[in-house]
Amino acid sequence: MPTSGHPLILTLDVQGAPHRWVTWQHACFYYARSLVAWAAGDHRFTFHGGTNRETGQRSAITVESIIAIKGKALAPRGRPAVPPLNNRELFHRDRHICAYCGHEYAFLRLTRDHIVPVSQGGRDLWMNVVTACRHCNQKKSGRTPEQARMELLYAPYVPNKAEFLILSNRNILADQMDFLAQHVSTHSRVKIAA
Ligand SMILES: [Zn+2]
Repeated sequence: MPTSGHPLILTLDVQGAPHRWVTWQHACFYYARSLVAWAAGDHRFTFHGGTNRETGQRSAITVESIIAIKGKALAPRGRPAVPPLNNRELFHRDRHICAYCGHEYAFLRLTRDHIVPVSQGGRDLWMNVVTACRHCNQKKSGRTPEQARMELLYAPYVPNKAEFLILSNRNILADQMDFLAQHVSTHSRVKIAA
């Protein structure tokens, strides 16, 4: 996100469940509309706005690194949301390790492998995809691992919300990581380190 060097702000719902990352500008909007229910971060950032013509005072908003947003400002709750499937987060989930040869590769040498191929009715979902290097993906071709006699070295899983938030931001503050780590399920492969 092209937003100067400021870290993203972690938003929560009023119950404290992680919601999403927003830019500091977006966080200022929540503060200005009095939509911040409470804050939990260790970090504070103060942003200065324009000068008021009548008072000569310069406006300022202090944004905290973790903020809970009131009610309807957030998307409606209901069934737990499945995070969108993107290669970046998929490769990060699998720690950039090919599920077939076990080697670690750079982003550009990795592919999204459908365990059950799309041509055989496999779907494009977290539970049917793993990270594979180009070589292994080509070798496996339109076959299942059994058909190709290629063993899966690890199992796919659906990241929960907190894990997805960790996967999708490479510039997480220590307090934000501590908060999200408490919400990551135990089967996660994500390395929790701030
Ligand atoms: Zn491989």
